[in-house]
Amino acid sequence: MPSLCAAELWRRSERWDLMGRDLFRLKDRHDAEYCLGPTHEEAITELLASQGHLSHKQLPLLLYQVTRKFRDEPRPRFGLLRGREFYMKDMYTFDTSEEAAHLTYQTVCQAYTRLFARLGLNCVQVQADTGNIGGKLSHEFQLPAEVGEDRLLVCGDCAFSANVETMEPGQTDCPQCHKGTLTESKGIEVGHTFYLGTKYSHIFNATFSNPQSKPVVAEMGCFGLGVTRILAAAIEVLSTEDAIHWPGLLAPYQVCILPPKRGSKVGHLEGLAEELCRSLGSAIPGLRGEVVLDDRTQLTIGKRLKDAGCLGYPYVIVVGQSAAEDLPRFEVRCQQSGETMFLSREGLMDL
Ligand SMILES: [Zn+2]
Repeated sequence: MPSLCAAELWRRSERWDLMGRDLFRLKDRHDAEYCLGPTHEEAITELLASQGHLSHKQLPLLLYQVTRKFRDEPRPRFGLLRGREFYMKDMYTFDTSEEAAHLTYQTVCQAYTRLFARLGLNCVQVQADTGNIGGKLSHEFQLPAEVGEDRLLVCGDCAFSANVETMEPGQTDCPQCHKGTLTESKGIEVGHTFYLGTKYSHIFNATFSNPQSKPVVAEMGCFGLGVTRILAAAIEVLSTEDAIHWPGLLAPYQVCILPPKRGSKVGHLEGLAEELCRSLGSAIPGLRGEVVLDDRTQLTIGKRLKDAGCLGYPYVIVVGQSAAEDLPRFEVRCQQSGETMFLSREGLMDL
């Protein structure tokens, strides 16, 4: 979907006015109006409608992209946590009936839950407001954190949780189990799901032909993951004062290798470090492209170890003094356990 979106589409859905100052607006040389897309319900529904009738056999249809989005935030802050330009995974779904759309909705929510679990992030799915996207049903995926800007109410007795925005002011009794009390915490929104019904498909005439070959307006959902915000939020909740801790799957590199300082007593091991870097990356399928060599060998190992800690590599391997001994050993530091091990080459490959 294009970043540059025609105002005409947004006027048809009445969101040109509804979005207010959140929308980045601009004009071309002929004075035609555009916005920088903060989301793409209009564009994708129009695209689908322009293709003519879909068959009911082609549904459900789930279309997604990962692109830059733009939002004129009143208070951009905390770097990638709340920026005016960010990456989002957005998906739009088309179904034959309300029932089918609900099933798609549940399926995607379950996929989001699994995704956050695999990242090792303790995410909660909360009932949410549909805001300016609209629709009938909505959930947010929230990462509990002190710097979070959303306020959540979580029940102590059942699985109920909600964004404060969706609740009566001052409500402390759980509306689901009626016995638990709701406690408030702060959260960072990292995902958002909406069951839209026919709000957009009706306006843009996105239809499919049913088994009797009659055109029927499609039921829609939309689903977003804040890709760049997940990076920042994960670091925010997992890190300590002096070191970044990445979820293993998100760490830019799994392993950092430190060759000795140039000109030191073991300076001749620089080649060994380079060779180790190449062979780890090629011998172990999961490490392809995941091993980096800190070849700033004008710096001491101590200085580079400190930097490696700050950058949060899950594993750091030092090729130093102990690698020059008769039984060469590599010093391996594991960030997650805080352990330091001295391993032979075989031991290292096993690890
Ligand atoms: Zn409850």
